[in-house]
Amino acid sequence: MTIPSLTLSPKGCTRARAGHPWIFRSDILSAPPELTSGSEVRACDQRGNFVGRGFWAVKSPIALRILTRKDEPLDDALLRARLIAARDLRKALFPKVDAVRLVNGESDLMPGWFVDRYGDVACVQHLSEGMEARRETLARMLVEECGVRAVVFRDDGSSRDYEGLVRHKGLLHGELSGPVGYHEGEISLSVDLLADHKTGGYLDQRENHLLAGELARGECVDTFSYHGGFALQMARKADHVIAIDQDADAVRRTRENAEKNGLKNVEARAANAVEALRALDKEGKKFDMVVIDPPAFAKRKEGLEGALRAYKEVNYRGLRLLKPGGLLVTCSCSGKVTTALFAEVIEWAAQEAKRPVQLLERRGAGRDHAPLVGVPETEYLKTWFLRAP
Ligand code: SAH
Repeated sequence: MTIPSLTLSPKGCTRARAGHPWIFRSDILSAPPELTSGSEVRACDQRGNFVGRGFWAVKSPIALRILTRKDEPLDDALLRARLIAARDLRKALFPKVDAVRLVNGESDLMPGWFVDRYGDVACVQHLSEGMEARRETLARMLVEECGVRAVVFRDDGSSRDYEGLVRHKGLLHGELSGPVGYHEGEISLSVDLLADHKTGGYLDQRENHLLAGELARGECVDTFSYHGGFALQMARKADHVIAIDQDADAVRRTRENAEKNGLKNVEARAANAVEALRALDKEGKKFDMVVIDPPAFAKRKEGLEGALRAYKEVNYRGLRLLKPGGLLVTCSCSGKVTTALFAEVIEWAAQEAKRPVQLLERRGAGRDHAPLVGVPETEYLKTWFLRAP
């Protein structure tokens, strides 16, 4: 089968040759008319030299996602080999873990395909037309290579709008009724993959949850707590943990999770976290550890300034609540808030709180969410462990 070829602009060629998989439509000089959504295409420079092969998108501003810089077919065998490689990396990194990000899109050279595994169920997201067009095949491969009994698709997030894909969710394979159980360290958790947020849990924070658990003591507060990922780990060592989330369902799940683990010292509250932090301050409360893990305040470049102010405000609030020597675990999952900007936010908050602040460790997403070097869009999470002497 001959694969149609298109021509990239010099800028597009430079980007592709540097290893960035995304080629925007403005960098396509000419494309053959027969290309359809998700079809395989060869990309060449203006002289006709081969640059890479990828999948075409009709609606997305990212017209082409490159999967290989070799002139090799993008067939099922290649996709299967990449899935196996991704699976084996997780097995090597986390041999005993029953919930991981199995495939991390661009980072695992499968642009737009994200797979989380919870026990024997896979939860997938398709964020490119190329992967959308192959979703049935990919689901079958997951069953065959990873032994999952069900494949849920959670294509109901806002990132689908950007790609021009409809929002929906459901099952691609098998059956599923009710929540699925999994573990983070000693804590057992459950998630309803068809009803809860995004692909279920926040697996990117798993290793940070565990570290927070090791460091916890005394009185703790976990804001933007969702199902209690941080709160439950901290409760194993702390005297008392307040978990705050505005979503009543998340709060209910936190309570259920606490009960399931025999943790009687978790107090889950449904409230606006910013207001709750302010109220705790007014009451004169002080804590040994505070966690701040807000949703992405900045999703786009527009509104970045407002988002930075919001991050500063919550961090300022968090720092004010710390006892001498208290720890602040502070996060931002906005890709637009770079490490440098986040450092500025923390400095600003520390100045306002008039407290010295030590940076114990800069962490990010777990190694199953490893970013791809040269592709800054694959790096988004900052989870920093701070201490206020
Ligand atoms: N810390 C969690 C993940 C948090 S996701 C973990 O590690 O597992 C962000 C959470 O913030 C969501 O559960 C959402 O319901 C909650 N949220 C968003 N805005 C909020 C607000 N203003 N006040 C309290 N919770 C909020």
